[in-house]
Amino acid sequence: MKNRRDSTLLAEIRKFGLFDTNACYQCGSCTLICELTNSAASFPRKIIRYVLLGLKDLLHSCLEPWICHDCGDCSSICPRESEPRESMATLRRYLSAQYDWTGISSKLSRSKIWYIGSLSVVGALVLLLVVLYHSYVVNLPLSYFISTSMGLEHMYGTIKYFTLGVIFIPLFFLISFAFRMFWLTIYRGSHVKIPLHLYITEVKTYVLHSVTHKKLSECPEKIRWPIHWLLAFGCTIILVFLIFFLRWFQTDNIYPVYYPQRWMGYLATIFIVFGSMNILFGRIKKREEIYKSSKFEDFIFPIFLLLTAVSGIVVHISRYLGFEIISHYLYVLHLVIVIPVLVVEIPFGKWSHMLYRPLAIYFQAVKEKAMQQQSHEEAIFEQTA
Ligand code: SF4
Ligand code: SF4
Repeated sequence: MKNRRDSTLLAEIRKFGLFDTNACYQCGSCTLICELTNSAASFPRKIIRYVLLGLKDLLHSCLEPWICHDCGDCSSICPRESEPRESMATLRRYLSAQYDWTGISSKLSRSKIWYIGSLSVVGALVLLLVVLYHSYVVNLPLSYFISTSMGLEHMYGTIKYFTLGVIFIPLFFLISFAFRMFWLTIYRGSHVKIPLHLYITEVKTYVLHSVTHKKLSECPEKIRWPIHWLLAFGCTIILVFLIFFLRWFQTDNIYPVYYPQRWMGYLATIFIVFGSMNILFGRIKKREEIYKSSKFEDFIFPIFLLLTAVSGIVVHISRYLGFEIISHYLYVLHLVIVIPVLVVEIPFGKWSHMLYRPLAIYFQAVKEKAMQQQSHEEAIFEQTA
């Protein structure tokens, strides 16, 4: 890998948020206090130095910004108030933009107009599609929109494919970004040759960290891990329902109260409401170090989550009470909120960290194992030479 110097790197990164390097006098306290730093992944100071030296290729090969779980300990201890936690968050936004070949993540991270504009455009597009569907597929004249009592079941066949299509969009982009992350960090960025079998044997690391988010439990603020996990678990249940079991929610009759899927749905909704409100209150009250300097999109993320859950609850209650027209309109409102989250936030916004974090831990584990194997082979070679 080439280590060319790029004098514009620092200025480029600062377009993605705070990156204060002027005050830092390299005391090393931040690296010492970080619970997640180890011999294989040392931060935040090392990466900040890469930036200062303009080592762009080396920075692009770094996995550490994703292994940092944003606890804020480094910022609390920094004697110069350099905010290394903020620098790591800025680097994550910058790196996301490098993995994203479309350039959309970069635009969303750097411009509020792009951020709000893209969410609004997708929401408006959903509304237009609903109107076109009812006008040209159902053949419903516009004047009947507010007077015709319609059940939701007639949309079932279409909405199933529509939902799968909508879910396929972020999935396609995320998979392609994951390949680019692999190319920058492993294929081009690794100094050791990685045997193929390690990618397979270490898949368990990816699965483990995707499911448990256990790296967060290593942070000193122990309560963050269960709250974060419950929120992620709630979102995952709803996503699984959307992909595989949408029919449960699209039939005319609501499933009886003793059906487990209803309770799974309620549980997931409670987790999402609780998790998103916890983030929102934390940010509003600037309760902890990690909430002290929240960016604009840091608020949009929990607000949309909360709106998604609340609009889903309201649709459910309305259907339960048998308000067909109101349910129909509320359902459209729910779609207008949910679909921008799915197609904008998940692949291009803050939600993409759900993919990058466990992937970085997986790549790091693969690299470490390859290095251990290489050292072992070199030791045997030296003994036998
Ligand atoms: S604790 Fe602050 S001053 Fe010390 S190395 Fe870290 S960022 Fe620099
Ligand atoms: S925010 Fe926490 S995990 Fe991240 S570098 Fe600072 S101390 Fe380490």
